[in-house]
Amino acid sequence: MTELRIEDIRIELTKNPKEKIDDDKLGFGQQFSDHMFIMDWSVEKGWYDPRIVEYGPIEFYPALNCIHYGQSIFEGMKAYIANGEAVLFRPLDNFKRLNNSADRMDLPHLDEKFALGALKKLLKIDKEWIPKSEGTSLYIRPFMFGTEQTLGVNSNKNVRFMIILSPSGSYFKEGLQPNKIYVEDHYVRAVRGGMGFAKTAGNYACALKGQKKAAECGYSQTLWLDAIEQKYIEEVGAMNIFFKINGKFITPELNGSILPGITRDSIIKLIGSLGEEIEERKISLEEIYNAYDNGELEEIFGTGTAAVIAPVGELFDGKKKVVVNNFETGEWSKKIYEELIGIQLGKKEDKFNWIVKIED
Ligand SMILES: *Cc1c(COP(=O)(O)O)cnc(C)c1O
Repeated sequence: MTELRIEDIRIELTKNPKEKIDDDKLGFGQQFSDHMFIMDWSVEKGWYDPRIVEYGPIEFYPALNCIHYGQSIFEGMKAYIANGEAVLFRPLDNFKRLNNSADRMDLPHLDEKFALGALKKLLKIDKEWIPKSEGTSLYIRPFMFGTEQTLGVNSNKNVRFMIILSPSGSYFKEGLQPNKIYVEDHYVRAVRGGMGFAKTAGNYACALKGQKKAAECGYSQTLWLDAIEQKYIEEVGAMNIFFKINGKFITPELNGSILPGITRDSIIKLIGSLGEEIEERKISLEEIYNAYDNGELEEIFGTGTAAVIAPVGELFDGKKKVVVNNFETGEWSKKIYEELIGIQLGKKEDKFNWIVKIED
């Protein structure tokens, strides 16, 4: 198997470039740029035929194994304009995590540096698709799935990796707003030894019913508890979660069933660098209720690439209601948001070397 080089990427530019969308009309994940990256893998050849082609339909036979058995993993990151330049935030960490997800699904590894090189090449071609207004970005979706035609359940002999790009609007058009979160005590998302740490399609498929239930009760997200005792807090929808109790930050430790968010990791490092105490450990719902009853629960916020920080204003488990900080965005939610956004936009020193320029 020969090692792939960036020069080997075949490029077929579109003959029909699409109209760009005005920044203020952008939603999330609805529109796509002109091009996409594709490469395929087989047991015999390894990764082969890397190519950048027009964004469009892909064709497979109905026995495509990932449709039947769910070998499908993905990543989510953003390209955006900072000080006039197109940049990415910790992109190699996304490709590392994709490889960890691949491990769990018995899918092949990517060469992380090659994947980043391919992404940069695609972004240079579709650079005009990166929206420029503050808060907007070009959402990047790398993904990998089994492409063997078989109803047999076995390790994949054929796999595809792709990257598509979707211009996205500002997540918080009116600034940080507190969210209402429903504590789910019936359904569970992931169990230790399962695949909760992997960014895989199945974790979302099994979360939809809980999400719907929360929405029907007027809540925007689900808070997942551990699958064994349904006692310990795991994470929120597609975000990790942080608590501030009696002056100290606490976030659930990575236990195999929680997704290791890159925003989570960045915020742990940021909080530490600001001289604050942060604990990664098990935290029970009961501990949160007790802290609330004692007046020690100061803030709760979710963290993830899309929103960066999502303040939590209310928790409800069907019985007990916890209103956090009078349903106002907390001081630290704002501060951490501004620190991280400041680094991302090049307004604050990038002391951890998180920013990667597309042109480098
Ligand atoms: C992607 C994701 C997150 C957040 O990860 P980031 O790297 O911070 O974007 C959290 N939870 C789940 C379930 C996710 O899929």
